[in-house]
Amino acid sequence: MFASLILPVPLARTFSYRLPDDMAARACVGMRASVPFGKSHTYTGIIVALADAIPEGGFEVRDVLELLDEVPTVRPMQLELWRWIADYYMCAIGDVMKAALPSELKPEEGKQGIVRVDFRPKMKPFVRIILKDELADAFDLLKRSQRQQMLFTTLLDRSHALQQEVADVVAQDELLRASGSTTDVLRELVKKGLCEVFEQEVSRLDAPLADDQLQPLNELSEMQRVAYRDICQSFRDHAVTLLHGVTSSGKTEIYMHLMHEVIGQGRQVLMMVPEIALTTQLCQRLRRVFGSRMLVYHSKLSEPERAEIWKTLLRDDARIDLVLGVRSAIFLPFRQLGLVVVDEEHEPSYKQQDPAPRYHGRDVALVLANKHGAKVLLGSATPSLESWYLAQQGKYGLVQLKERHAGISMPSIQLVSMADARKQKGMNGPFTPRLLATLGHALRDGHQAILFQNRRGYAPTALCPSCGWSPHCPRCDVALTYHKSTRNFVCHYCGYQTPWPQQCPSCGNPNISLEGYGTERIEDTLKQILPIARPIRMDTDTTASRKSYERMLADFEAHKSNVLIGTQMVSKGLDFSEVQLVGVLNADSLMNMPDFRAHERAFQLMEQVSGRAGRRIGQEGEVLIQCSDTHHPLLHQVVRHDYEAMAETQLADRRRYGFPPYTRLISVYIKGRYEDRTRRLAEQYAAAMRQSFGVRVLGPEAPGISRVKNFYIQQILLKMEREASPTLVRQYLNRIHDAMVAANDEMMKVVFYYDVDPM
Ligand code: ADP
Ligand code: ZN
Ligand code: ZN
Repeated sequence: MFASLILPVPLARTFSYRLPDDMAARACVGMRASVPFGKSHTYTGIIVALADAIPEGGFEVRDVLELLDEVPTVRPMQLELWRWIADYYMCAIGDVMKAALPSELKPEEGKQGIVRVDFRPKMKPFVRIILKDELADAFDLLKRSQRQQMLFTTLLDRSHALQQEVADVVAQDELLRASGSTTDVLRELVKKGLCEVFEQEVSRLDAPLADDQLQPLNELSEMQRVAYRDICQSFRDHAVTLLHGVTSSGKTEIYMHLMHEVIGQGRQVLMMVPEIALTTQLCQRLRRVFGSRMLVYHSKLSEPERAEIWKTLLRDDARIDLVLGVRSAIFLPFRQLGLVVVDEEHEPSYKQQDPAPRYHGRDVALVLANKHGAKVLLGSATPSLESWYLAQQGKYGLVQLKERHAGISMPSIQLVSMADARKQKGMNGPFTPRLLATLGHALRDGHQAILFQNRRGYAPTALCPSCGWSPHCPRCDVALTYHKSTRNFVCHYCGYQTPWPQQCPSCGNPNISLEGYGTERIEDTLKQILPIARPIRMDTDTTASRKSYERMLADFEAHKSNVLIGTQMVSKGLDFSEVQLVGVLNADSLMNMPDFRAHERAFQLMEQVSGRAGRRIGQEGEVLIQCSDTHHPLLHQVVRHDYEAMAETQLADRRRYGFPPYTRLISVYIKGRYEDRTRRLAEQYAAAMRQSFGVRVLGPEAPGISRVKNFYIQQILLKMEREASPTLVRQYLNRIHDAMVAANDEMMKVVFYYDVDPM
């Protein structure tokens, strides 16, 4: 018998091996096996097919070394999804496997053969009480030590030894905490034969809630009920439905009702959220209803936790009905999905940038759902233009919620001119007088505020006023950002750091000045000019761990601070009832990005961050947007909360200039150490592409940031009509690539990859 395997190598194919008889009897598709590779390597891969005949090819077929599973680690439907991803996103299936499998389930190659890495159960010490006939005898043994008595009574109590035939075992740490004891005291009890300590496997996953802590679903409001009914209706003739509901309209409540329904039919639900929207608030809200039938899958889990979730989902008897997860949750081994909810479906962070597979979590979720015969609900207050367009075309169903829950009004948004403030010399750092006054007022009234600036660090750049020098990364084509907390200039692309120079390296001027405002400098400035403000800052610098992120949210919720300053992290999923004011510090910087999606993105960010204001009855939220050009049409669409007008304007532009959703884009990247060679190859490559695709090929061009980590970057953009067959396009591209590699040795000296549907 022969097996083909996916191996963790960046080649777009599978590999065949012979299965020795003892393994042939046990082997199944989806099991892990280790095999020899090349002269001296051993790799572990996944069996994707079994066959009786020698596969064609004529080359020598070697033996599988070891079968690592008793039951498959990967389900057949997952393998199908991997294949689709490799195909559509034009990458090696080995790379998809690497992204999909938790590393605990992915034995790595070792120096002497393979290292057996596998899922290790987590063990914890437990205590079991030993009761002799007379309880009095036991206390007799302890009469000289109050601490031992204390521990023993706690153990009696916690193990229910007097109420039950067989006493419960008690976790050691819990017992010591409850009795205020130490392990020394416990050791004495063991010595006296009153209890024993042993290790027992425990779950790494969240402890389940007791049933009495579970709550029923909230009843839907009239408006929500109508939406719920419309969604069910829409699912009858659409696999995908878009729920466009303003912030705080109750989309999450509706999701929960739909989930409940699907779970009741015995099928599973995947709810996807962007990383930054996965807050404790949301987890708790869902856990209160779904309890231990829900698992949470995020990027800060440890590898053993990841593996435990995978193993749990593989067991058909484990009653896991709901996974709340980020992008990579699409890789989990679901038994049978009935519904996939993609919340905040417009979020660009659903797209994986690096490394391959460069997939879009939402788009893969559609394929995943389709394989399971599940329905998909895309939810957003500001849908992506791609999804909105498909809904307008009738390809997706569309359901809308135009009002906030419980009659709470949408926050009122006003534009504040920074140009005017500058003219009157009224700017105080990054603040207009109007924003400062309103902020002071809100804080004095005991309210909270959120300030949004899409720039972390202290100052985006520094400048020598006499010669114009400014610090740049030696490895990347970008200006360095100053971070005051570390007193360093930092490259946000490669992490390069360099200290503040004593004087200008170019002309010797000792007075270098900082330009612009990052979140760190805004926090600093605010503390100086508005003493009542007690700000905390939330960006990737301050929230490196999930714990610190949650601590900040908890502190803000507990009013330990009254101003939350942050990057786009503060725009998502936060539900603080006391936030009355939201300030956007610089709308121009959002709109002026060199990207055809800049305006769509700017609208989404401003609308979402505005949605954090005034989420409670009887307190209207206020939003101030500082900008230079108060006449910009996009800003007026934001002020009117007019998503549809924004979509219409932007779609007209996209159609005129031939951008998605009217076309499909594929970026071809060539990166190399030498500028000349990279450029020359990219030109040859583009010329070869033009022979097949003609004017649909744009470039090569160096992207806005043309060098990162000492690699020069060239990009060729292929713009295809929406109607063109993606399969055919990929065939052409693969043929061109093969021909280029065959004709040109230098292709082996550069990094080459595709980015399909780039963001
Ligand atoms: P969205 O997901 O659209 O932003 P949410 O579902 O988070 O809106 O609802 C906003 C707030 O209103 C939440 O605090 C939620 O608990 C509350 N809410 C919404 N609908 C209901 C309802 N039917 N019953 C009780 N509370 C509701
Ligand atoms: Zn200078
Ligand atoms: Zn750099």
